[in-house]
Amino acid sequence: MPAINLQGIGMTSQRTRDRLIERLREQGIKDENVLEVMRNMPRHIFIDEALASRAYEDTALPIGSGQTISQPYIVARMTEALLAGKDKIGKVLEIGTGSAYQTAILAQVAEQVFSIERIQHFIPRAKKILDMLEIRNVNLKHYDGYKGWSGFAPYDGIIVTAAPDEVPLDLLNQLGEAARLVIPSGEEGNQKLLCITREGDEFVKSSLNAVSFVPLVKGTRL
Ligand code: SAH
Repeated sequence: MPAINLQGIGMTSQRTRDRLIERLREQGIKDENVLEVMRNMPRHIFIDEALASRAYEDTALPIGSGQTISQPYIVARMTEALLAGKDKIGKVLEIGTGSAYQTAILAQVAEQVFSIERIQHFIPRAKKILDMLEIRNVNLKHYDGYKGWSGFAPYDGIIVTAAPDEVPLDLLNQLGEAARLVIPSGEEGNQKLLCITREGDEFVKSSLNAVSFVPLVKGTRL
């Protein structure tokens, strides 16, 4: 028996989750596929039990080591931008596994997910949660996301959940034709969410929301 209640009760119940989805819809998330995946994802199991009652508030929450689980609206917005109206996408690279919440959502809309995290102890924690959810199309790696994961490139989409000052070149190079890179960029207090589409040798950039992410940090740590 899993020690954690996947279904949720009270503040973690399906009704509470449904209310969050209505809020996302009101805020402009239109992709029904993304909304449905998020309706079915128990966010409370990705965070510390002490914070579980706040899991369906539309807010980022601490996950330790100075990192946060991303705000649901931002997760929805980034996933929607990555999919660009498609139901399903092939191979996706994610930088910044963290709690693995975004990873688990990507796993429902992509054939395969490759996710990189620089803080080593997040990896076994992520693996345990994904196993519990019986998600089997995710590969995790302790590595510096600035370099991407060249072994499985090119990707049909890349999503970055921490903000570099400038878009890393290695990530652009690992984009397949017509693939999208969804990435926050800029210094603290002045970040924008960017969507960059590869068209041959050209990279076409559009700017989405103003955002506030933890920084993308070079190198790895325990
Ligand atoms: N998507 C995660 C977000 C976690 S916060 C979630 O919703 O839980 C951002 C994550 O990016 C942190 O776990 C941080 O350790 C990681 N990160 C920062 N710099 C990185 C880098 N260079 N390579 C890989 N991961 C990085």
